[in-house]
Amino acid sequence: MKTVRSDFEILKKTINNQPLTYLDTAATSQKPNQVLAAIQNYYLKDNANVHRGVYTLSEQATQAYEDARTKVGHFLNAPSARNIVFTRSTTESLNWLAQSFGPGQVEAGDEILLTYLEHHSNIVPWQVLAQKTGAKLKYVGLTEDGQVDLVDFADQLTTKTKIVSFAHVSNVLGTLAPVKKMVAMAHEVGARVIVDGAQAVAHLPVDVQDLDVDFYAFSGHKVYGPTGIGVLYGRTELLEAMEPAQYGGEMIEKVGLESSTFQPAPWKFEAGTPNIAGAIGLGAALDYMQELGLAQVSDYETDLMEETVTKLLAIPGLTLYGPQNGHDRYGVAAFNLAGVHPHDVATILDQEGVEVRAGHHCAQPLMAYLGLPATVRVSLGVYNNSADIDRLCAGLHQVREYFAND
Ligand code: PMP
Repeated sequence: MKTVRSDFEILKKTINNQPLTYLDTAATSQKPNQVLAAIQNYYLKDNANVHRGVYTLSEQATQAYEDARTKVGHFLNAPSARNIVFTRSTTESLNWLAQSFGPGQVEAGDEILLTYLEHHSNIVPWQVLAQKTGAKLKYVGLTEDGQVDLVDFADQLTTKTKIVSFAHVSNVLGTLAPVKKMVAMAHEVGARVIVDGAQAVAHLPVDVQDLDVDFYAFSGHKVYGPTGIGVLYGRTELLEAMEPAQYGGEMIEKVGLESSTFQPAPWKFEAGTPNIAGAIGLGAALDYMQELGLAQVSDYETDLMEETVTKLLAIPGLTLYGPQNGHDRYGVAAFNLAGVHPHDVATILDQEGVEVRAGHHCAQPLMAYLGLPATVRVSLGVYNNSADIDRLCAGLHQVREYFAND
């Protein structure tokens, strides 16, 4: 894969007089110059509101916005750009599903099936739906190394299961869900399947038709795009049948005093002026990923993750959670150092310019399931390299020395 570090201006920065070693891509990725240029170019040359002007500039802005939708459609191999709804984030995509798709899909006594791996944004909206409808929430357990337990999944799927929603890749353990198998099993009992792709899209090619998912959600900012733009892919007939979550300008066809009619999907979901620049920035990020080659990105990151895991496991007192190898993880490694609070680890690493996450990673039910109050988490992006991992490990040795002398 071509060297990409020079595309990321921010990596030239120093933190505490040390080179920035950014190992928190799972929280948000850094943005390449190509994405920043696309956003600036839009504001410099094409800025106008979309879908309303008959004048040329507005048509150009609309074209750029709709081109971005087409790029997302190609990125996910959706049947058409019309299967792509722009949202604010994964969180918003999942909330819209829980609010708009959920009520027609579940009633009292029905079941919503999640897994213990979920991020809060794929738990709380379903809790609220369950509370409102009288549906029951159920959680699928994990195997020893943090994979979805397919035996438990099969046991928990019943004819009452109406919604199955789970992460494609875990933001804590980095494990990859066997999506195709789970979708086939869920469809067998008549359930609809929603996949939270927040941690997957930056690390592996995603084909929504091959996976046969009903809905797929992700955030632009985790795939080298800007914040404030997200995606909801939906199967055509489901999007057509689904009510909008918000109402207002842009999404309407005709407004009367008592009632209104709406645009077809996906536009009926995009009320008000959308995040035009965000969508265009996301389109540029996806172009960037395609140019690097998704298979090449995946291979490069797997090799770097193998190296990361090997080097981490060589540190005395370090416990790594989830798979004990690099090839079963996608972008993420969570661990603890014996006798040291994860926040202390992250604080000392920060002194060395090494930026990692510490805490519950918005996955408190998973932490409780694993019996952990918190962990340190490192996560990789296309710009990370062996030198970053060496700085991380040197920092971790320093943490150990510091606490040994304490
Ligand atoms: N799901 C997973 C698996 C995530 O890792 C995240 C972000 N940490 C989210 C959902 C939520 O993403 P956002 O905050 O961009 O909505």
